Amino acid sequence: MIPAAFDYHAPRSVADAIALLGRLGPDAKLLAGGHSLLPMMKLRFAQPSALIDLGKIPDLRGITQSGNEIRIGAMTTEHALLHSPLIAEQLPLLADGVHQIADPQVRYRGTIGGDISHADPANDHPALMLALGASFVLAGPKGERVHKAEGFFTGPYETQMRADEILTQIRIPIPPKGTGWAYAKFKRKTGDFATAAAAVLLQMKGGTVASVSIALTNVGPTPIKPTDAERALVGKPLDEATLKDVAQRAMNACAPTHCQRGHPDYKTAMAGEMLRRALLSAQSRAKA
Ligand code: FAD
Repeated sequence: MIPAAFDYHAPRSVADAIALLGRLGPDAKLLAGGHSLLPMMKLRFAQPSALIDLGKIPDLRGITQSGNEIRIGAMTTEHALLHSPLIAEQLPLLADGVHQIADPQVRYRGTIGGDISHADPANDHPALMLALGASFVLAGPKGERVHKAEGFFTGPYETQMRADEILTQIRIPIPPKGTGWAYAKFKRKTGDFATAAAAVLLQMKGGTVASVSIALTNVGPTPIKPTDAERALVGKPLDEATLKDVAQRAMNACAPTHCQRGHPDYKTAMAGEMLRRALLSAQSRAKA
């Protein structure tokens, strides 16, 4: 459980971190909260020659509102998100999800940027970002680019981020007033990753669904946006027949693997149930 030897660098600016990343090459790894990277290093699944610690770059932390958007520095911890009045007021879905990530110790160190960049299909932020319609600011040697969450996650631990880029900021549009929300997560015990989870943003009008955004966690190689289920919901009341139909449509989009959390059929069934619960919770919070 002791990692292989590595060099350690602690740049003070994003520009210095990008320069180091370019100079040290693909054997170097960025270090955020370390709660995914360090266990992998201790198990020797990862053996970076150098770590570039982003923890001493103040520009990478913080939560601000810019117009109709919340902007979150990649090095903002889960703890900071959970205790932010701005997140609680403007992005309650994110607060709901963060509350269910790991435990207080992990949330003190773990960062939103690390959770997204790591792209573990079991991580909660990727699906939350899809449901919220987030965008990611990626900084590299040629400058900045912005990539939508949709299409960003390409496989287990794989994203559209290039090896010489750093995720610097997460941008999330503020949902319209009256939007209901819920993150329903089924896990074996407190502190565990999801067996399956569903994130929902929902607007109701006259007793029927006006618009909905759904994303699922840990039931495929990437977070899943079940667009067929989303389309089927619009214009319908959330009655038993609709819930059953959309849960089945969402389950049709799932492709989980077998692991210690259960058989693929079981995980798929749990995804359907989590979606059903998330929709009902979101409806109870939505204002028509
Ligand atoms: P690190 O571990 O430091 O980095 C992870 C990877 O991302 C590394 O490859 C690193 O190079 C890269 N990286 C980090 N920041 C950037 C950046 N800004 N730009 C580009 N690349 C970057 N997560 C959940 O979502 N849900 C859970 O329920 C959950 N349970 C957990 C339980 C335990 C016991 C533990 C130890 C972890 C758990 N996690 C869970 C994972 C945790 O949330 C991690 O903190 C998170 O996955 C990674 O964030 P980090 O800041 O620790 O990143």
